Amino acid sequence: MLNVSQVKKLVRTIVAFRHDEMTCEICFHALDRYVEMTLEGKNAAEAMPLVQSHLQGCTECGEEFQALLEALKAIEDAHEG
Ligand SMILES: [Zn+2]
Repeated sequence: MLNVSQVKKLVRTIVAFRHDEMTCEICFHALDRYVEMTLEGKNAAEAMPLVQSHLQGCTECGEEFQALLEALKAIEDAHEG
């Protein structure tokens, strides 16, 4: 069983992860799924708000997202055409 201080530590870790530790690396790993959802017409921003906010604040990842989106769209179009 976890004691109270362990639980508090755990919660702090989760909160810290949510608010501060969205790094480019984590974003990059989540980007595939994010782009997929966007292309499927799903609300990726709502499902992955951390990725969304990181993309808005980080030029590098924002560009990566655009490039990936364009690339996948081009592939889809090629298949449909
Ligand atoms: Zn980034």
